[in-house]
Amino acid sequence: MEDMAQFAQLAQLAQRNPEIKYTEIFINNEWHKSESGKTFPTINPATGEKICDIQEGDKADVDKAVKAAREAFQLGSPWRKMDASQRGRLLNKLADLIERDSMYMASLDTLDNGKPFIQAMFVDLQGSMGTLRYFSGWADKIQGKTIPTDGPHFTYTRREPVGVCGAIIPWNFPLMMAVWKIAPALCAGCTVVLKPAEQTPLSALYLASLIKEAGFPPGVVNIVPGYGPTAGAAIAEHMDIEKVAFTGSTEVGKIIQQAAGKSNLKRVSLELGGKSPTIIFPDADLDFAVEEAHQALFFNMGQMCTAGSRTYVHEDIYDEFVRKSVERAKSRTVGDPFDPRNENGPQVDLDQYEKVLSMIESGKKEGAKLECGGQAAGEKGYFIQPTVFTDVNDNMTIAKEEIFGPVMSIMKFKDVDDVIRRANDTPYGLVAAVYTQNLDTAMVMSNSLQAGSVWVNCFNRIYPQAPFGGFKASGLGRELGEYGLEQYTEVKTVTIKLPQKNS
Ligand code: NAD
Repeated sequence: MEDMAQFAQLAQLAQRNPEIKYTEIFINNEWHKSESGKTFPTINPATGEKICDIQEGDKADVDKAVKAAREAFQLGSPWRKMDASQRGRLLNKLADLIERDSMYMASLDTLDNGKPFIQAMFVDLQGSMGTLRYFSGWADKIQGKTIPTDGPHFTYTRREPVGVCGAIIPWNFPLMMAVWKIAPALCAGCTVVLKPAEQTPLSALYLASLIKEAGFPPGVVNIVPGYGPTAGAAIAEHMDIEKVAFTGSTEVGKIIQQAAGKSNLKRVSLELGGKSPTIIFPDADLDFAVEEAHQALFFNMGQMCTAGSRTYVHEDIYDEFVRKSVERAKSRTVGDPFDPRNENGPQVDLDQYEKVLSMIESGKKEGAKLECGGQAAGEKGYFIQPTVFTDVNDNMTIAKEEIFGPVMSIMKFKDVDDVIRRANDTPYGLVAAVYTQNLDTAMVMSNSLQAGSVWVNCFNRIYPQAPFGGFKASGLGRELGEYGLEQYTEVKTVTIKLPQKNS
């Protein structure tokens, strides 16, 4: 992280009590009350107090939103007639509007999610703008091929937008997850019905207002806040949605895939949980590896699908690594997420807070050694002390299940074969990281680890240009990059009979 003085200056621009301008359902570029008349509260996790009530969408509102998205996708609609280059310009405009309002939007995510404001600015806001700008460039570069088929025929392919896309997103990166779904969909010419997580609807609703301001036609993006089993399920089951993109738990990912199979076989992409290994070899730069392994786990209060939640350390450096890691975890500052001195804010809600504390209890009961933390922090809100367990074995619950909290589990390994076998012995396969100075070790490891992304001497290097997604139970399909864009297009093969064949 850069200079503390610069952060302090930036943090002064944060809005501790940002005005909440939008709490309703966004359909056809207009704001609507829920059909049921119901609302739900969104809570500030730093205090446990209600921020405001949000209109609670369910099946009836999803139906309305899908109808709007369908109409916007009709042949001959302003959206379907728009030049691809213009779609790109609109995406760029949206990025510019987010940049204009970035302090406000980062403040919304800090208030609603509890993430430190500085991290919201540097990760969530930058990531959102970068993703929009990356996909803005692709809009007029989505191309087919000409194919030399037999006989007097001319064959070519077109990449067409897949249609109305549903998006169901989690609460850990509220704005950025919305953008990861919306940007490639709009780039390809699709229309969207998005459901934000019930814990963090505020930044997605503000984004809706910017989508209108940028000039996207009505119905192109519709945002329906609500709960998973009602609004989310209505999207997954909808017969008029051609694709659904989901990020969240593996458990719900399975439900989404089943719903797609039982309804209209809509295309499904899933970005799910993980239990990712961070592997430190004895030749790694130790201090660097300690800091990286620390950030790999504790960043965003451990609430990352990519969290490096199994830290494997070579036996030769294990004791030294543990000593330094515990020291670092003890120094991690926890508190008010608007204060730039704090590295961690609260967990997102009471459920997650209780779940993480119960995982800590299971670690203690199953015999792991608690080196530091292990308890709630602060008098109110959902804060948890940075926690480190050592002497963790592979069969303990904390080594097998996703914790999604600030709980580091350190394990000892002997050699390359031992650590490859153990790192891969999980149903998950999202990411893995390896720290070594030896190129042969780096290559053997990166080829052998079953993970959608392998990072060597770095962590969480997620770029709009590069595909991201999981092996095994960590997901299906890829987001970002050219691979991510492909998920939003269908390939059409056109063959035209010619009067004669000319070679
Ligand atoms: P979740 O999977 O329950 O929720 C994610 C999204 O899915 C939310 O928008 C939610 O409303 C929706 N949803 C829930 N049930 C649904 C259903 N039946 N049909 C359709 N949509 C539904 O995640 P959570 O409860 O917020 O967190 C639980 C666990 O999920 C975490 O502990 C963590 O393991 C995992 N998680 C992973 C990610 C990630 O980025 N991969 C993000 C958040 C949570």
